Amino acid sequence: MIEAANVPSSGLHSAVAEFTPALLDWFHRHGRKHLPWQRDITPYRVWVSEIMLQQTQVATVIPYYERFMARFPDVATLAAASIDEVLHLWTGLGYYARGRNLHRAAQRVVNEYGGVFPSTLDEMQSLPGIGRSTAGAILAISLSQRHPILDGNVKRVLTRYFGVRGFPGEAKIEAKLWTLADACTPANDVGSYTQATMDLGATVCVRSRPLCNACPVSKQCVARIKGLQSELPTRKLRKARPQRDAFAVLVIRNDGAVLLEKRPAAGLWGGLWAFPQFDEHSLASQWLNDRFGAVSEATSDIYHHAFTHFDLQLHPVIARVDSVPARIADGDEHRWYDATRPAKIGLTKPVVDLIRRIVLPPPVVRQHSLL
Ligand code: SF4
Repeated sequence: MIEAANVPSSGLHSAVAEFTPALLDWFHRHGRKHLPWQRDITPYRVWVSEIMLQQTQVATVIPYYERFMARFPDVATLAAASIDEVLHLWTGLGYYARGRNLHRAAQRVVNEYGGVFPSTLDEMQSLPGIGRSTAGAILAISLSQRHPILDGNVKRVLTRYFGVRGFPGEAKIEAKLWTLADACTPANDVGSYTQATMDLGATVCVRSRPLCNACPVSKQCVARIKGLQSELPTRKLRKARPQRDAFAVLVIRNDGAVLLEKRPAAGLWGGLWAFPQFDEHSLASQWLNDRFGAVSEATSDIYHHAFTHFDLQLHPVIARVDSVPARIADGDEHRWYDATRPAKIGLTKPVVDLIRRIVLPPPVVRQHSLL
């Protein structure tokens, strides 16, 4: 039996019965059908798009997806690539664990499944970075298998449409939403339905100010009827976000190259190249002194970066050096990075932004005489 807050069970069944046909009809008439991953549909292409679209908007993903597919047109090419190159093509997209998991999953598909994606939900879910909803979406869209999905967009649509109160990340509420998602998922045209639910959440039932007047399921939507759009989905009670400070050392060689270190594979920015980073200024100065002798330091404005669980305040410590010790040479741990001739490696966002702000010369602005 399915149940949802605020909806009597007889009403619930009619709400479920109305939801799916209305959504499919809307998708066939108005949904997006020309996105790059909607061409030449294969599990590989759908998988890459689903991973890139997690936490990231379609417009941002498109150029990344096109570049990724041009370089890695199939799972075997991706599996054979270096992690540095994969993360290079991910630079700027954020949530780098997605890129690392994509690479590991590709290697498992090649090594354990002979390069063919598994076709069961359990096997698909066992691959790194693929949860139940993503596995369901890949199988539904690429192989027309009937599986419900429940990503962030779909959660928003269902909580509003059925009037489900309670934080959707809570196990009890999530279980209820899975039941509703399952009840709404049709046996036929499941690929279109899957894209339609995600599309509705991304383009109509958006987080703030949903476009209820343009919504195909507005007639029975509890949130619209009761004016609860801004209250649903229920937000998590938030504690104040912790804030951390760190000191990033920009060692700039006289030819403009900047010293980067490779981060450990696990943890924040795992496997990416970053500035040497310290928890205290004194440790940064000590490190500089040990490697480069007495060099003068400069500072620059604090760089703010938001992680999922905390805010980072990164204090740049800038040192320009004329000579460098031979032991700090290009290798697996260090690299002198020349931003004018960028190597194909994955960079953290602060590296990209701070090099642009501090190291690269400003673009020449032509002055036009008014006389
Ligand atoms: Fe979302 Fe409004 Fe549609 Fe309800 S009517 S599902 S709140 S867009």
